[in-house]
Amino acid sequence: MSFYIKNITRCSLCGELIGSFKESLLLPYIADPDSPLAFFVRNYVHRNCFNSWEDHDDFIQSSFEQEERMIQRGNYEKVILYDRYFIIDYKKQEDTYHIRDCYSILEIRISIGQVGELGDFFEKIKTGAHAQLEVGKLIFTAKGKEVVIVHHDEDEIGDEITIPHSRINDYIFVFNYIRRYNEKNDLL
Ligand SMILES: [Zn+2]
Repeated sequence: MSFYIKNITRCSLCGELIGSFKESLLLPYIADPDSPLAFFVRNYVHRNCFNSWEDHDDFIQSSFEQEERMIQRGNYEKVILYDRYFIIDYKKQEDTYHIRDCYSILEIRISIGQVGELGDFFEKIKTGAHAQLEVGKLIFTAKGKEVVIVHHDEDEIGDEITIPHSRINDYIFVFNYIRRYNEKNDLL
């Protein structure tokens, strides 16, 4: 099922109804179509069910490999990093960086200015600071040692995604990587 419908769409992992869109996650394609995990592709699940799923890591690995194939096929414009479940694609026309996180299954599209703001924000919350940052339609909030990202669109709350504490350093790495990349390209 490729559309989320309130009170109809069920989680393919637990079988229960998914009460709201923000709890839902549409699972991406994976590299191996013969894998038993392929059954779950393009299915909706609870984000919480996905995070605690025993096949979580295998599914992510396979979806990351699928993205690698997409890169080889030229489905991305200019991949500047492909590592740690991240793919960073630079879009020249819009002068933005698309950060795809295959681990948390989310994509963030930001300018270089916003990359700087987010890099500083993630550094700050690592020290335990309570902080919030609004970047376009995304609100980043430090909660405990995690970061909650809420996508808001004209008062409507869309996705709500939690970046686990274990991924904070990877995010900082990514923001620093983009900053360095951008500086180098300014020199050319
Ligand atoms: Zn579920």
